[in-house]
Amino acid sequence: MRKFNKWLQQLMTGKYGTDELSSFLAVLSIVLFVLAVISMRFSPALVFLVLMTIVIIWNLYRMFSHDYARRQGENLRFLRMRDGFLYHTEDIRRDVRKWWNGFTAGFKNKKMGKNAGTKGDPNLKYCIFPCPGCGAQVRVPANKGRIQIRCPKCRTEFIRNT
Ligand SMILES: [Zn+2]
Repeated sequence: MRKFNKWLQQLMTGKYGTDELSSFLAVLSIVLFVLAVISMRFSPALVFLVLMTIVIIWNLYRMFSHDYARRQGENLRFLRMRDGFLYHTEDIRRDVRKWWNGFTAGFKNKKMGKNAGTKGDPNLKYCIFPCPGCGAQVRVPANKGRIQIRCPKCRTEFIRNT
């Protein structure tokens, strides 16, 4: 492994190496590969494979390049584009995150069999108490009055008002 690292170091000496754009291209080539696999039976698979090959070659070309100025310029343009994209999609991304959080919270509630079918803020439907035995955070349904709670981790029982 050390030998490999040394070899890699020597190989990359004087070369441009990796940057944000190269990480993006690496992810992009994986995405294209997955798309190609998914669409295997149809003609788009070939398009995805060709695109993937282009992206990988482009990425390798940049990594082994000696033209630092040009590569840095490309990376800068990419970062500007990425930041612009993130800025313009901020509202959409916030909505998607909210929807996703609600979606996963609903799923968790259903799995626990508690308050199944109800929607909304999970904080309103649960109380969280620290277990006196082990300190674990124990979540119980809210508005149930005085109830006996058993810690799922250490089985300590304690009574709390919810
Ligand atoms: Zn406990």
